[in-house]
Amino acid sequence: MSSNRDLVVRCPFDDSIYGTLQSTAAEQVPAVLATARRAQAAWATVPVPERARVFRRLAGLILDNRDRILDVIQAESGKARLSAFEEVMDAARAVRVFAGSAPGLLRARRRGGAIPLLTKTIEHHRPVGVVGIINPWNYPFNLPASDGAQALLAGNAVVLKPDSQTPFTALLLADLLAEAGLPAGLFQVLPGSGAELGPALVSGVDYLMFTGSTATGRKLARACAERLIGFSGELGGKNPLLVLEDADLATAAAGTVHGAFANTGQVCVGIERAYVHTVVYEEFLDRLLDQVGSLRVGVGYDWNIDVGSLSSAGQLAAVSAHVDDAVDKGAAVLAGGQARPDLGPYCYEPTVLTGVTPDMLLCREETFGPVLAVYRVASEDEAVERANDSRYGLNASVWSARRGPDVAARLRTGTVNVNEGFAATWGSHAAPMGGMGESGIGRRHGNEGLLKYTEPQTVSVQRLHRIAPPPRLGNEGYAKLMTTAIRLLNRGTR
Ligand code: NAD
Repeated sequence: MSSNRDLVVRCPFDDSIYGTLQSTAAEQVPAVLATARRAQAAWATVPVPERARVFRRLAGLILDNRDRILDVIQAESGKARLSAFEEVMDAARAVRVFAGSAPGLLRARRRGGAIPLLTKTIEHHRPVGVVGIINPWNYPFNLPASDGAQALLAGNAVVLKPDSQTPFTALLLADLLAEAGLPAGLFQVLPGSGAELGPALVSGVDYLMFTGSTATGRKLARACAERLIGFSGELGGKNPLLVLEDADLATAAAGTVHGAFANTGQVCVGIERAYVHTVVYEEFLDRLLDQVGSLRVGVGYDWNIDVGSLSSAGQLAAVSAHVDDAVDKGAAVLAGGQARPDLGPYCYEPTVLTGVTPDMLLCREETFGPVLAVYRVASEDEAVERANDSRYGLNASVWSARRGPDVAARLRTGTVNVNEGFAATWGSHAAPMGGMGESGIGRRHGNEGLLKYTEPQTVSVQRLHRIAPPPRLGNEGYAKLMTTAIRLLNRGTR
């Protein structure tokens, strides 16, 4: 059990105190869940098109409040304004897309019955009840906005546990949802530590949507399995990028820079390893280094910064440890490689390394910072084989004029972006997004993302005759009759 404490939120730009608020105590969680449950019972009876209206309004409110949201995201996470804008843009679009698709997706559907004409069968999607969302600090606004929208549109209540570094962004989202017309109690925020609040949350929700590290995801999946409740985990990645012989190298270099350094490399789907065909290797590397050299690193709220701060001292230490380990073991630093305390306490230069070998931490482990390892490969087959040689399987990026879709079919990742780093699949909100292997289980976005928050329920109404031997026919007669009937039915079934 935990008690209320002051949660002090610091701004990574200068380590100043941004704000202080009371964390939720673990013993308060059951009351929060009870409120959610009461609100959910009423919300489940609201027709889906009416629920959707809340999210159409929310999409507008997000855009109307753009600068206010950007300021809070930046203050809590330290990211560049453009990276914060990518979150806002994503949230505004995602909730609108989900509002558009939910009514059709959740409609009750007639299905073929057991006995034609006599059995009328309808498939429903009932809300699971109360959905817990546990979110990381790197995307504190768009993830809970879009996951929350899908859960709420499906008729559930949501209890969000944001990362303890980013509670004010979560509370701002809650305010916007209330302003959009979401009834009270349906979206509640639990500021506080995951280790303290996690168990109380997991023990009372009906579904858990988790985004974060693979290690925490594993623990939470176990706890959900124990309770036999649904779990979706969007976890870590070590995402590969492939530059093939026929790639447009100028676009590939620019796309690689965004893929690797957007959000200061703290992107689950961000690129950490590049496999470049030997024929284009030198030219690609020259172009890449040219672009990396012109990136503006720094802190602050103006738009003219390309790479913002890392989010915390812990992140800076983790990123530095990966790069230092690689350098100690013989990797070559072609760009960056240093912290920049002169720019901000947690700033780190966009870094490009070659000569990375399997004994180095950053070869296989997620770095989650502005660090890219570039490898030369002799063929497309080698690029695919090395891209797939990972316990993760979140996102991949392929740069090629003609080979993209064929190569995608051979990659073991939940999303593949052809001639883009990660934004094309992520921004395709109507399609599912998630990881294979240790990158996760379940999907967000798309139909799967919404339907996972429902329990399918099949209702069949039997008319005129039960599905059993009629009294006068006897068991054998019934078996004969049904054998013939099933033969006929099967013949008529595609
Ligand atoms: P983390 O697992 O340490 O924390 C994530 C959240 O889980 C936080 O809110 C934290 O408070 C909470 N938490 C921690 N321990 C908990 C516990 N025992 N019980 C309940 N909750 C607990 O992850 P992080 O390092 O803060 O976030 C970065 C990770 O998130 C990276 O690995 C990144 O790849 C991943 N991520 C994945 C996606 C995706 O869509 N796949 C998106 C963003 C981030």
